[in-house]
Amino acid sequence: MILAVTMNPSVDISYPIDEFKLNDVNRVENVCKTAGGKGLNVARVVVQMEEEVLATGVLGGMIGEYIIQELTKGSIQNDFLKINQESRNCIAILHEGKQTEILESGPTLSSEEGRAFLQKFESLLAKVSLVTISGSLPKGLPTDFYHQMLEISHAKGIPVILDSSGESLKHALLHPEKPYVIKPNGTELSQLLGIEVGDTISSLKKAVDNYLFNGIEWIVVSMGGEGAFVKHGGNYYRITLPEINVVNPVGSGDATVAGLAVALNCHQTVEVVLKTAMTTGMLNTMEAGTGFINMNKFKRYFNEVKVEKLD
Ligand code: ATP
Repeated sequence: MILAVTMNPSVDISYPIDEFKLNDVNRVENVCKTAGGKGLNVARVVVQMEEEVLATGVLGGMIGEYIIQELTKGSIQNDFLKINQESRNCIAILHEGKQTEILESGPTLSSEEGRAFLQKFESLLAKVSLVTISGSLPKGLPTDFYHQMLEISHAKGIPVILDSSGESLKHALLHPEKPYVIKPNGTELSQLLGIEVGDTISSLKKAVDNYLFNGIEWIVVSMGGEGAFVKHGGNYYRITLPEINVVNPVGSGDATVAGLAVALNCHQTVEVVLKTAMTTGMLNTMEAGTGFINMNKFKRYFNEVKVEKLD
């Protein structure tokens, strides 16, 4: 089973409005509410791939209850640490072809709650063979919190796919207990290294050879429609994709993480791991919903992904 961690989940609300009026009343008819957060998207895609997943993290209040209801409705097993504060709402107003977002920052966790989550995390590891950790940390937790989770998983010999950014990712890379996989996109890679990483093979090679990534088994730099650049086991790979009809690319990175998790958990070959991850990413872009893929199309697009091992 795969454990999918989301430390700061949300209810994502979208308000489609024909014409958004500032400083006036805007009425909405078709409100769409979903359980959101990167790790929940990962869990959703893993379930669609018919693999077992357990969603965990921290949530609370009525919004937390709603998230649990939604997960249960979607047949996603879940076991979250419950806190007294409310989880957050993230609102997207879709108007005139634009998207205006209002993102609550969510609860501030105490150090006791942080410790309680680490205990829960450790106990859940007994049930799983791979962990995905996605997204940002809630307020109140130290920036080395993901490193603490890596230490615990490392002691139990459970590999971790870490898909985060900024300081919490950087902290996690500075210690001997490395994630097994990271999946930065180009912007996250540049931010992490503090330089603008170009999309040529030589600049990507130089970037992934940075000492920060020493000891990480898979560095998957996702590049949207351009596919990905990967370093694994001392080898470099360039992956290219077919032309596809993109409907909504949001959450493609999470779908890619789900594909990586499922293929790695099944001990697939390098080529199958990379083709699976790219295919689930692509399939997510072809659906309107975030974290949804149509598995009936999997084989067709899987066969069109090209993996090239570079010299
Ligand atoms: P997000 O933050 O929206 O979850 P991301 O920035 O982490 O995404 P991307 O690099 O945009 O991740 O996309 C991940 C993968 O999804 C790509 O490697 C690719 O397989 C697929 N993908 C994304 N955008 C496109 C696209 N326009 N055409 C084809 N495939 C795409």
